[in-house]
Amino acid sequence: MKAKLVVLSGAGISAESGIRTFRDSDGLWENYRVEDVASIDGWYRDPEMMTRFYNERRAQLEHCQPNAAHVILADLEVFFNVVIITQNVDNLHERAGSKQVIHLHGELTKACSEHGKKQVHDIGYRAMKYGERGADGALLRPFIVWFGEDVPMLAVAIEEMQTADHVLIIGTSLNVYPAASLYHYAPKHAQLWMIDPNDTQPVQRPITHIRAKATEGMKQWKNLVLPDNL
Ligand code: NAD
Repeated sequence: MKAKLVVLSGAGISAESGIRTFRDSDGLWENYRVEDVASIDGWYRDPEMMTRFYNERRAQLEHCQPNAAHVILADLEVFFNVVIITQNVDNLHERAGSKQVIHLHGELTKACSEHGKKQVHDIGYRAMKYGERGADGALLRPFIVWFGEDVPMLAVAIEEMQTADHVLIIGTSLNVYPAASLYHYAPKHAQLWMIDPNDTQPVQRPITHIRAKATEGMKQWKNLVLPDNL
């Protein structure tokens, strides 16, 4: 049986694909204040602006490509049972070929009802028009888990973490909860790894930190863990 590799990825893994992180832009998300565009209050305050912001992110995503870090993770499925828990709302893991991807914070290419996330519509890269309504008659909104909302995929992510042999934390500052505390659910025998060029919030377990950007760090990680296969 293959060992299980559970990956917790964040905005940093997509930085080399041209999508900026929060941290590298002083807490701004593409020049918008995070509290304006990433909170449920922001949606009720100005849904039109939020619709426009996510339309821009979706349009940008269409022209971005997965980078070597996404591709190596997909290729690792030959050697490991790989489960990716991502905080990212982009689809670069899937486009690189990863088969088991859990989106904790939603997906840019989907929309849902303002009244709940039960019915999810695939909208691809198209712009949503403010005022579009779903089958329940309510406004359609981006399928994003905003600050102030539940994280419906959390229980599934915890379950995956509980059976990990390796946990690889990549490109996340570990500032956003509950994602940041997920590694605590990994069993004692699991080996913890981090790839990030910078310091993150402290991790309260022994961890090997590869201080490198995602593409270089993934190559180093693969060499460390699978030296005979390269
Ligand atoms: P963050 O911005 O708080 O932290 C990014 C981390 O990535 C930092 O620790 C930084 O040092 C590291 N980093 C920067 N460049 C890197 C590189 N080339 N390779 C590896 N690491 C690099 O991001 P976060 O922890 O993911 O949390 C912020 C929230 O922002 C998430 O919930 C996410 O949904 C949202 N977000 C998503 C995207 C996306 O989908 N691509 C982009 C921006 C923000």
